[in-house]
Amino acid sequence: MAPSSPLTDRFGRQITYLRISITDRCDFRCVYCMAEDMRFLPRAQILTLEEIATIARSFVSLGVDKIRITGGEPLVRKGAVDLMEELGALSGLRELVMTTNGSRLAATAETLRRAGVRRVNISLDTLDAGRFRAMTRVGELHRVLEGIDAAIAAGFERIKLNAVILKHRNHDEVTPLAQFAVDKGVDISFIEEMPLGEISDHDRAEQYYSSDEVRRDLGTAFELIPSTELTGGPSRYYRIAGTNTRVGFISPHSHNFCGTCNRVRLTAEGQLLLCLGNEHSVDLKRVLRANPGDEARLRAAIVAAMTIKPERHEFTLQEKPVIFRHMSVTGG
Ligand code: SAM
Ligand code: SF4
Repeated sequence: MAPSSPLTDRFGRQITYLRISITDRCDFRCVYCMAEDMRFLPRAQILTLEEIATIARSFVSLGVDKIRITGGEPLVRKGAVDLMEELGALSGLRELVMTTNGSRLAATAETLRRAGVRRVNISLDTLDAGRFRAMTRVGELHRVLEGIDAAIAAGFERIKLNAVILKHRNHDEVTPLAQFAVDKGVDISFIEEMPLGEISDHDRAEQYYSSDEVRRDLGTAFELIPSTELTGGPSRYYRIAGTNTRVGFISPHSHNFCGTCNRVRLTAEGQLLLCLGNEHSVDLKRVLRANPGDEARLRAAIVAAMTIKPERHEFTLQEKPVIFRHMSVTGG
């Protein structure tokens, strides 16, 4: 993209990647993501699917070429697949991708692939059904495993598993999870827990397990070859020798990834977040609803928002989270 791209921030970073949370609701209640008694947003506060499509179109016209649909669980929203079809047809959009917990993939994978979704990330923290239930509070492992198989059968260009690793919950499973990824021919990323939103389940500092520890554990079972590939994202990648599986480490605490940040996020409520780890935001729903049909106004608000994108996040493991939004609202 030309350096004169309208979506360039004060630090010279070009924004080419938009992540959209299409719902804050979910059929799971993962212990690191949600409180047990989550209150969800009233429907009127949530962007309609039409509003989401309008905002996505504006971003693409301004040079964004990659969109990730996430949530909450995107596939619990009625009409999600239709939205994917609409976005998949946007000319100028190079990549449409999705993050899902996999619980509904068995029924939707083929349609999503046909709609133009190229890659999916599927969350999987454990291979033990009892632990899976404990970590998601309500989820059933076999449905996610069936979803993963359906995604493989549907022929997505790439499938990546996402595993949040917590000490004493699943840190002993990093090698079996990586082996599962190798056996299925998919990639896997290990994620450090981020302090987003208040949760009731555990003390985040106590259950912190660093990417360096995960990499050390994996090193006893596999040869990890560092990859030079740059994704513009927070992952550092390795390839497992002798396999096609890449292993990523998403390490907001131990490694800072802000310098190459190319992304912004749209929450289910229509807030444009300029940084996951800061409160800087612009209310695009207000702009949209105050100026119906005026896409030029919307585009101007998006361009203006670039001036408040902060340089970096400041995550800490202190007692209270500095960011009060849950990941389900922000879109992981
Ligand atoms: N429901 C979908 C899913 O679970 O994949 C999409 C949304 S979820 C918020 C996106 C990703 O964020 C998941 O991989 C989840 O494990 C991760 N996540 C949620 N809360 C997190 C936290 N506090 N720290 C790190 N990752 C988190
Ligand atoms: Fe739902 Fe995903 Fe959050 Fe788990 S991580 S509660 S599946 S939104």
